[in-house]
Amino acid sequence: MSEPPRKRMVRPPTGGTEEGRGRPARLKTAKERTASSQAWLERQINDPFAAKARAHGYRSRAAYKLSEIDDRLRLLKPGVRVVDLGLAPGGWTQVALERGVTNIAGVDLLPVDPLPPAQILEMDFTDPACGPKLIELLGGPPDVVLSDMAPNTVGHRATDHLRIIGLIEAAADFAIGVLKPGGAFVAKAFQGGETAQIIAELKRHFREVRNMKPKASRADSSEVYLVATGFKGR
Ligand code: SAM
Repeated sequence: MSEPPRKRMVRPPTGGTEEGRGRPARLKTAKERTASSQAWLERQINDPFAAKARAHGYRSRAAYKLSEIDDRLRLLKPGVRVVDLGLAPGGWTQVALERGVTNIAGVDLLPVDPLPPAQILEMDFTDPACGPKLIELLGGPPDVVLSDMAPNTVGHRATDHLRIIGLIEAAADFAIGVLKPGGAFVAKAFQGGETAQIIAELKRHFREVRNMKPKASRADSSEVYLVATGFKGR
């Protein structure tokens, strides 16, 4: 027999969640909640971007990271083909659809509620069958490859770092292998370590490579976004 669905999130208490209004909400430490999940919940509830996302109907606060990047570079527009790697729960795809993109295919390990007309695969991007499937769904080479992929951490620093770098490299290889000339690649990365090498590699293939830290990217996180534009072609 299948298990009943589990509650995914504790409902936030009302009040105190909007930007600049009210005192930060506090939650009682439930016995079964670990200190880190308690901290995550409190941060989420007091986070102005999370509150804005809920009010706007975005599925994730990450939507504001892509919005800010795209406000500057105007990559998402009607007529472009877009790939969204690691799309769950779908905030980035929502932003692309809002900006007039109609041909978009995405993939995630997790199931994603439909976002028509986006085409969504539930599979591992590193599966060699995934890239060709995405291109087949799009019906041709993409103008923009987005990757907000982040692996689940295992708590072992070196292992986690290698897994993150592996995903960024896989996304960059894919973009370089499939993009249309003039195309763009946007990817979540982390400051330090091998990121400098990835930037150097991107510079060989793209006319411009920027390192962006959108306001919605938490200041205490080493997360950055690599934004490569003007793909030189193969
Ligand atoms: N951009 C998304 C949004 O706006 O809602 C948020 C993406 S979330 C930060 C990172 C996602 O990457 C997770 O949903 C995770 O399942 C996915 N991911 C990690 N490794 C992956 C892989 N190998 N293949 C596909 N998706 C992967």
